[in-house]
Formats: sequence, structure tokens, C-alpha cells
Amino acid sequence: MSGTALQPLATIGILGGGQLGRMLALAAARLGFKCHVFAPSPDSPAFDVVHRVSCADYTDTEALDRFAADVDVVTYEFENVPAETATFLAARVPVLPDPQILATTQDRLAEKNFVAGLGIRTAPYADVAQADELAAAIARIGRPAILKTRRYGYDGKGQATIKNGTDPQAAWRSVGGQPCILEAYVPFEREVSVVAARGHDGTVACFDVTENDHRDHILKVSRVPASLSAEAAQEAQRIAEAIAQKFAYVGVLAVEMFVLPGSGGILVNEIAPRVHNSGHWTLDGASVSQFEQHIRAVAGWPLATPMRHGRVEMTNLIGDEVDDFARWLTIPGASVHLYGKAAVRPGRKMGHVTQVFPV
Ligand code: AMP
Repeated sequence: MSGTALQPLATIGILGGGQLGRMLALAAARLGFKCHVFAPSPDSPAFDVVHRVSCADYTDTEALDRFAADVDVVTYEFENVPAETATFLAARVPVLPDPQILATTQDRLAEKNFVAGLGIRTAPYADVAQADELAAAIARIGRPAILKTRRYGYDGKGQATIKNGTDPQAAWRSVGGQPCILEAYVPFEREVSVVAARGHDGTVACFDVTENDHRDHILKVSRVPASLSAEAAQEAQRIAEAIAQKFAYVGVLAVEMFVLPGSGGILVNEIAPRVHNSGHWTLDGASVSQFEQHIRAVAGWPLATPMRHGRVEMTNLIGDEVDDFARWLTIPGASVHLYGKAAVRPGRKMGHVTQVFPV
């Protein structure tokens, strides 16, 4: 371990208090660390499992100052933390991954340009800064296409499909009339992701490629291994590694990709600079979880080499599907994870279940 590595009992600060922060904190506790979670909502699921919390707005500099003084390193579980918050903290305490990476991944245009700059394929895209640029973008990209807001999109929010017959200006208004990119619709065969960790020393460890089924734009089921040829799986991991190296990333990131039919190649859809829902299977299905890998990386500890325990399936419990948790508890081999969220809302991720099938 390097001289700057944290010792057990050090405090890891986590920006964001959702289920990802909760699972990061649990992994950190297992390694002997303490966590301090900073999040604006008093109902934050991560607050339940840590010793210290700051319930304050991300722009509250006094609260941020106190938080920085209490922690040895800061990381995040939520990529829409304002870049200024991360920069403010970085002047006081190490922040990992580097706040500049947030600036790139918070903006779909900057992110696409970054990926394309590495020679990695994405869907064809065009910058649409204002309404009167949309017609030319559609002429270039063609239909069907997807209009996506540059910022604050997740789980399909801030997106509109432009098909034959769609009025472009209605699509523009439906996403709030804000700067967008227009992306060609990709007739993909499957969606996959690679969750990868990069350590302080530049070592990268990828988890096996995961295949993801979405329902209503929200991840429903992840399966590992993905149905891909060995070459395609290696290619997907090479792409994630190239992105992690170019960013000089420290921590876990996820790269979402589209696989084209008939081995037509792999396109990058999106980068998440954090642990990711499609990596939840690692909690029960691998020798090390994505959460532990992230904590190891930001602590300056060596990464583990992930070993998968078998074929794994992870099912999200979305909205009132969580009411079914008692049935899942009786299924042999199923591991149930509930996030401790009081309010059940349609589309809200309430928990997940992992099933490992030894092979
Ligand atoms: P995103 O928020 O970009 O991850 O998009 C959410 C989901 O919409 C993806 O997981 C895909 O299922 C679908 N999607 C996004 N972009 C495209 C595209 N260019 N072509 C086809 N489907 C897409």
C-alpha cells in the first residue's frame, strides 16, 4: 500500500445519501472505516447506516467546511452533485474521483466528445443548443432519433423520441427547451455494461460484462455473464479500461453500452462516475463487490481481483414490487436487499434481489 493509503478507522465522506451511498457505507464499515454522509434530504437511506451525517444543501459552504474537516477523503454516490461543491471540497480534502470528471460526465455533449476523442464509437450525435438548431440536426442524424437534455437526465428522464411524424418543436418543449444533443436511434441487440475499478496505482479491475434489461427506461434485470462472444466481452472491457485510464480515474465507474446485431460492434451510451445499479449483483455474486472495490480505491488500498461465483441474476424491486419482498425471502438462494425507503413511488428503486446459480 502507498504511504498515502488510509488506515482503518479513517473517515470516508460520501456526497449523496441514496441506496448507493448506503451500500458504500456498509462496505466501508466491513473494512473498518467510518463514513460521514452529506446529503440534503432528511430521509436519505444512507443516513440509517452511518455514525455521522450532514443534512444540508450542497451549496451550504459552512456545512461543507465542517464536513471537510471531519473526513479523510471525499467520494460521491451521485453524479449530479454540483461541480462547485466538489471543487470547494477539493481545496480542503482529497476528492476522488477527480471533480473534473464530474464536469465531463454531467454533460452528455462533453461526455460524447470525450468518448469519441478516444476513438470509441457512440451513436451519431449532434449538438442542439437552441430550438432553431433542431431541424438541421434532424437532417443530419435522421429519424428515428432521441433528443436528450445535456444535463440532469437519468432513467430516461429528459428524453424525447423523434420518429416520422413527430413535431420536433413539441419534442423540444417536452424536454423543457434546454440545451440538448440529438442522438441517432440505435437498433441494438442488447444492452450491456462494464463496471470497472481503477486504483491509485493505475491498476484496472473489470467485473464481468453484465447484460441489462430495462423496463420503462429503468433497469429491471441484470444478468451475468452477458450473452456475448468472448471477443465482444473483451472489447467491452477494453473500452471501460481505456475510459478509466484516460480519466486517471480513482474508484468505480460504469460504462453502459449498446451491442449491435450480428456482431456489428459496441457503442458507448453513457458513463456513470460511480458505483452503478448494474453492478449490484457483485454483492452476492462475486468475491468482492463494486462497493468494496470503490472503497479500496479511494482509500488507496489494493484492488481485489473479482471472482464470480456462478451465473447471476439481479432483479430490481421498483415501486410497489417491494411489497413482494416476503415471497422473495422464501426463494432458496435469493438474497434480498431493501433500501429502507419509507415512501413507495412508481419508478422508485426500493430494493433488489440477487440470485446466484452455481455452474
Ligand atoms: P440513457 O439515459 O441515455 O441511459 O437512456 C436510457 C435508455 O434509453 C437506454 O438504456 C436505452 O434503453 C434507451 N436509449 C438511450 N439512447 C438510445 C439510443 N440512441 N438508441 C436506442 N435506445 C436508446
